[in-house]
Amino acid sequence: MKTVIVTGAASGIGLAISKAYVSEGAFVYMVDKNKEKLTEEAGKLEHTEAVTADVSSYVEVKKLFHYIKEKSGTVDILINNAGISKFKSIWEVSVEDWEEIIHTNLSSAFYCSREAALLMEQGGSIVNLCSTRAHMSEPDTEGYAASKGGIFALTHSLAVTLSEKDITVNAISPGWIHTGDYESLRVVDHEQHLSNRVGKPEDVARACLFLTDEANNFINGENLVIDGGMTRKMIYEH
Ligand code: NAD
Repeated sequence: MKTVIVTGAASGIGLAISKAYVSEGAFVYMVDKNKEKLTEEAGKLEHTEAVTADVSSYVEVKKLFHYIKEKSGTVDILINNAGISKFKSIWEVSVEDWEEIIHTNLSSAFYCSREAALLMEQGGSIVNLCSTRAHMSEPDTEGYAASKGGIFALTHSLAVTLSEKDITVNAISPGWIHTGDYESLRVVDHEQHLSNRVGKPEDVARACLFLTDEANNFINGENLVIDGGMTRKMIYEH
């Protein structure tokens, strides 16, 4: 049975990823800082354990991995999914806002990857949740864009370094993945995508299964864009 860690597992994409690994027969450590929601969601799933931790904190990440080491010994797969997307005017962003987004989205992935790699004795696989916003932007998104640009670069750097331990490291860059009520979306929301639909958390979850399948370990250091084609669409106005 594979041991998987998913951060930000209490909701949205992380919850869908956790469910996907459980349905593949894995044991999943579901990690989130929202204890109430995490306990509720993990309680509905077999072969999971809810572990409350704020992965933006190095101290909490050390504690988390000490706990997992004591319980499981080894880890096979890590999905660095925890993230926040607070957008604020460049003129109003505080240093605290900046540090919160960088530590939550980027530092967490470095902390967790290093700790997990120490427990991947038989090789393993890491997937980092990046974003199409690593490559293109709307106004007032500096912190988020920078954190995801950092994730993009961290991914290839880790892939090169952790090759000596037979650990593959890839990123997934989702576009618009709707984590709320899918039925509430408008026709225009769907039709602006080349795929004629908005993304679902399961679109990302299936890609995680694919990238962490040992049979696919020739894909390494890559960034897989899952955005219904949005970043391939020219937007000149005629
Ligand atoms: P979400 O807000 O639905 O879920 C994120 C989860 O992470 C929450 O349960 C939250 O409690 C948890 N979390 C936040 N900070 C944490 C911390 N410091 N420690 C532990 N847990 C923490 O978000 P989502 O839409 O499912 O996004 C998941 C990931 O995918 C994020 O990294 C996000 O940047 C990325 N992403 C999402 C989209 C999208 O359209 N939904 C697009 C591109 C990238």
